[in-house]
Amino acid sequence: MARLRIGLVGAGKIAREQHVPAIAAGDAFDLVGVVDPMARVPGVESYSSLSDMLKAADPVAVSICTPPQVRYSIARTALDAGRHVLLEKPPVATVGELENLARHAKAAGVTLFTAWHSHFAPAVPAARHWIAAHRPRFIKVTWREDVRRWHEGQQWIWEPGGLGVFDPGINALSILTDILGEPLFVTRASVEVPENRAAPIAAKLDLSTAGEARIEAEFDWRETGPQTWDITVSAADGAEIVLSIGGHRISDSSDVPVDALEGEYPAIYRRFAELIAAGQSDVHAEPLRLVADAFLIAERREVAPFID
Ligand code: NAP
Repeated sequence: MARLRIGLVGAGKIAREQHVPAIAAGDAFDLVGVVDPMARVPGVESYSSLSDMLKAADPVAVSICTPPQVRYSIARTALDAGRHVLLEKPPVATVGELENLARHAKAAGVTLFTAWHSHFAPAVPAARHWIAAHRPRFIKVTWREDVRRWHEGQQWIWEPGGLGVFDPGINALSILTDILGEPLFVTRASVEVPENRAAPIAAKLDLSTAGEARIEAEFDWRETGPQTWDITVSAADGAEIVLSIGGHRISDSSDVPVDALEGEYPAIYRRFAELIAAGQSDVHAEPLRLVADAFLIAERREVAPFID
């Protein structure tokens, strides 16, 4: 298959640490341009706007790795110009924006791909198969990490649309929607919001499936000790699995190595190339809808200011 020309918009932490190396290591795409207010990618031409990049570098695909609040208009411009679009997670700021982008992709006859990277974590398929063979009754999600360690200097995460602790927490929800394979509903939510910020630093959700499973999820950005990204699934027959390290290890097949961590992004770009070749889109709104629903019904409590 001929390599496709791809442009990147937003060259921050995730773009430089994961997207650029994954594109370079794969055989599907050539990175031909980057748009970012300040950041540069060595060896790749920088452009001051998406339209300049489209005109000068002529990519057939665009990967959007900006903060989510600004993605919609960038994606619209690319889709309406007939380019295939990959959206980092969370895909956009609202469910309505995503639905509209899906319509524009269809009208333009191009691929739109919501790249939920945790779907590509190596132990997730094993968890999906385990769940298909058991009847999950109770699921505990524990997502506790240190915001200062993982989001140093990032202000957009605290602004409206930045999602706060749901920025990492939505990865857990993306895994749940993938492995459960049935609709999920938020039944109760509470958020803790620092008094000097717009977005939560901690949250608790109760969810249920259309079947009989009950889910408790806890997200906290104040964890300075060991970092935890665990999903424990207990089945009606008494069996249990723990999917840990954000989907990189499963308790009953711990041969999945931790260094498989690097595998998510090469898999994302392979999938993007397959979708383009097949003339298909892959638009998965569920994790974003769950966060939106949580915000709709959440009890909100102000907590001490967050000083970074
Ligand atoms: P980041 O380091 O703040 O990078 C975002 C970049 O986008 C910055 O360089 C920013 O420039 C640039 N940008 C902002 N507005 C733009 C625009 N209109 N056009 C072009 N570039 C623009 O954030 P990040 O950590 O890479 O996260 C980006 C996305 O990836 C988020 O949705 C996040 O959830 C997701 N993600 C992050 C990680 C991670 O570990 N960091 C992991 C998985 C997914 P300025 O800083 O100059 O505004």
